[in-house]
Amino acid sequence: MSRIEAIRTFMAAGADMLARKFREGKLPPGIAWIALRGAGTFARAMLTGDITTDAHAQRRAVACTLCPRRTLRTLDDHPDMQAGYCGPEAEPVEGGTCGCLVTITVGLETRPAGKPWVASEYCPYLMWPPG
Ligand code: SF4
Repeated sequence: MSRIEAIRTFMAAGADMLARKFREGKLPPGIAWIALRGAGTFARAMLTGDITTDAHAQRRAVACTLCPRRTLRTLDDHPDMQAGYCGPEAEPVEGGTCGCLVTITVGLETRPAGKPWVASEYCPYLMWPPG
């Protein structure tokens, strides 16, 4: 199954089931964020093939993890997971942070989520480029 096919399959399933699979380690990390947040804009980008490589997404997530502008929120329905956002969650700041989901942390492991997976996206502070 290609990644695009996997994304379509997982998106067609319920969020609770997806979150359970994520916790059990049965969900490919590259698309785990879909299980946790709707992220419609990014889901659409991924469905159209606007996806970067695993290695590139991970490098972007490392930059976001080290970034002082990232904010964290423990997920209501998943207290063992934290979502990381570029600045305030879903609140774009003019000329600054975009409010996008950028990471998901489970325990000590932080993975790219949302924006870092979209090839055409870039950091508003040029910490990582498109590509
Ligand atoms: S996208 Fe850029 S500004 Fe936003 S959290 Fe990541 S590194 Fe920081």
